Parts: sequence; C-alpha cells; structure tokens
Amino acid sequence: MSDTFRALVLDRAGGQFESGIRALSFSDLPGYPVLVRVSDSSMNYKDALAVTDRGKVIRSFPMVPGIDLAGVVVESADPGFRPGDAVLATGCGIGEEHWGGYAGFARLKPEWIIPMPPGLDARRAMALGTAGFTAMLCVEALELHGVAPASGEVLVTGASGGVGSIAVMLLRNLGYTVVAVSGKPDMTRRLKELGASEVLPREAFSDAGKPLETARWAGVVDTVGGSTLVRALAQTKLYGCVAACGNAGGATLNGTVFPFILRGVTLAGISSVNQPIDVRLRIWPRLASLVPAKTLEENTTEINLNQIHDYATRILAGAIRGRIVVRLED
Ligand code: NDP
Repeated sequence: MSDTFRALVLDRAGGQFESGIRALSFSDLPGYPVLVRVSDSSMNYKDALAVTDRGKVIRSFPMVPGIDLAGVVVESADPGFRPGDAVLATGCGIGEEHWGGYAGFARLKPEWIIPMPPGLDARRAMALGTAGFTAMLCVEALELHGVAPASGEVLVTGASGGVGSIAVMLLRNLGYTVVAVSGKPDMTRRLKELGASEVLPREAFSDAGKPLETARWAGVVDTVGGSTLVRALAQTKLYGCVAACGNAGGATLNGTVFPFILRGVTLAGISSVNQPIDVRLRIWPRLASLVPAKTLEENTTEINLNQIHDYATRILAGAIRGRIVVRLED
C-alpha cells in the first residue's frame, strides 16, 4: 500500500477559498476507528455547493468533501467491522464536518457505516447514494401518511435529477402512478422509461398559483421547493401528503395554510443527514431491492476527481441527468 493517496481538499488558508487535488498521508486523516479504502463516491447537489464554496456546506477547513462513500474496510479498532468488509456511508456530516468521500481513504466512526446491502456493490451503492436514500425516505413518508398506489397519482418534481429520478423508479416499482415534472423536454422519453406515466413541464409550477387548485395528487415528492412546492401543496388531494426534501428551485415557502386546514394535507419534511443507524439499516436493503441494477446503471454517469468542478457547475445549473458516481480507484 502506498504511503500517500489522492484527495480533493478544500481550504480557506488566509481567508481565500482554495480547492485542489493533493497527496495525503494516513497521518493526515482524523483519528476515527474504521479505516476504509474508498473505491467510489458520488456527487449530490450539496457536494456541488461545497466544492464551489456556496451554501455554507463546509463547517471547517481544510476539508475533504464528498457526502457519500463506499469501499472496503482496511483496519478497524471497532469490533463491529473487520478488514475486507464491504461498507458504505452517507450523510452523518461526512464531507461537511468530517472528511468525506473524495479521497482514496477515509477514517470513520462506526455509527456512520453500514454493511453493503445484498444486491449492491460499491458502484451501485454510490449510484444510489444520498439521493437514493433520500428518495426512499420520501416514499416511506408517503406510505406512513397513508398514500398507497390506489390513492391516486404521485407527483415527483425535479424528476431528471438524482433524488427525483430515483423517486420515479421507486414509486413505479411499488405500483404507484407517477407524474414527473421536469425542466428538460428532452428527458420526457427517459422519464417515461424510468416509470413516469406523464411528464409535465417545469413552467407549470413556475409560480405559486392559487391558494387552492384542482386537487390531483395523492402524494408529492418535492426536490425543488419555492413556488413548485407551494403549487404542489395547492394541488394535493384531501389528506394527501407532500414529502419535501429539496430546494433546487428556491428555499422560500410563500403559500397559504389552506391546503393544510381545508384539505388536511400533510407537509412531511425529509432530512437524510442525521438519520439513526437503525433507519439506515432498514432503508438501504429496501432501496437496493427496489431499483433494478440495469436501470440504475443507465441512470448513472461516472467521473473521476479531476472532473468534480466541471460537474459541480453543471449540477448548480440544473443541467444534470440522473446520478454521478465518482470513481476513486484507477
Ligand atoms: P440534482 O442536481 O441531481 O437535481 C435537481 C433537479 O432539480 C434538476 O435536475 C432539475 O430537474 C431541478 N431543478 C434544478 N434547478 C431548478 C430550478 N431553478 N427550478 C426548478 N427545478 C430545478 O440534485 P439532487 O437530486 O441531488 O437534489 C435535489 C434537491 O434535494 C437539492 O435541493 C438537494 O439539496 C436536496 N437534497 C436534500 C436532501 C435532504 O436530506 N433533505 C438529500 C439530498 C438532496 P428537472 O430539470 O428535471 O426539472
């Protein structure tokens, strides 16, 4: 094993933001008990914000970004893990407060790590990543609030993105009728292949609309926020549920209370970062079983460390299709 490995390092030495690929040694890593050789990471919206110094994602510098990682345990001072174990970790402050996945190795706390679920390898796990985990949390929120396939259509916004595209697949595979919203007309066919029965243009949600509109959706998975979320709420049926996880289109919520007090609509907030380990251990195998490997692969673009800045720009421009896996090993 070489003494050094490559990592993308963000720094703010002297107050000036810097980002570059550096050679790190093992002594640079934090003192957490489980050393993982990272083979794959992924790029999420939050990673794009982090590497471009937007959104105040990074809590301390220097930082190795990358909120997701998958690989193999090399050494462990924790009895729960042994060398050779295939593992993954998402969220938990990795790539924000603790050095993350854009490096050949990472040292992690055991409570952040889950064993690789059956049916997944490192690449497929990262093709799902935080986006897949979040999509599954959204779907479970709808289920918890009584939205079943027979309840009616489910709307997915930002549907060509990571969370959106996986939510479309999951809902379809669970038997729901899915209507996608996308700003990319050229993605209509692809979204229908993933499971959407209809694709609406983004413009249909570009303003908040009326306080209450014709009720159509039994449930909503919203990755966009802003006027899209407000309008989706106004179109949600009696006792429907809207799972809100994102703000790709805006962080404000300028609507009325009428969907809540006249239609009993539930607004379910979704946060993937700090989910406890028992939730992760339950969600991941279910997620793995619901997304076919072939469909997942077709939804995935592979990049390397050198391409991260280019792809961050594309993500922030809303130009990304599906998921991005970052390959660490040559
Ligand atoms: P992506 O960049 O992969 O996808 C976002 C999608 O949103 C785009 O592909 C686009 O889809 C749509 N979009 C982009 N810009 C706009 C805009 N201005 N107005 C309307 N739609 C837009 O991001 P992710 O899927 O990784 O994440 C989506 C959102 O969810 C982000 O805000 C992210 O921060 C959040 N998130 C939250 C998590 C949580 O724990 N709560 C976890 C993971 C993500 P299209 O062109 O098809 O409309």
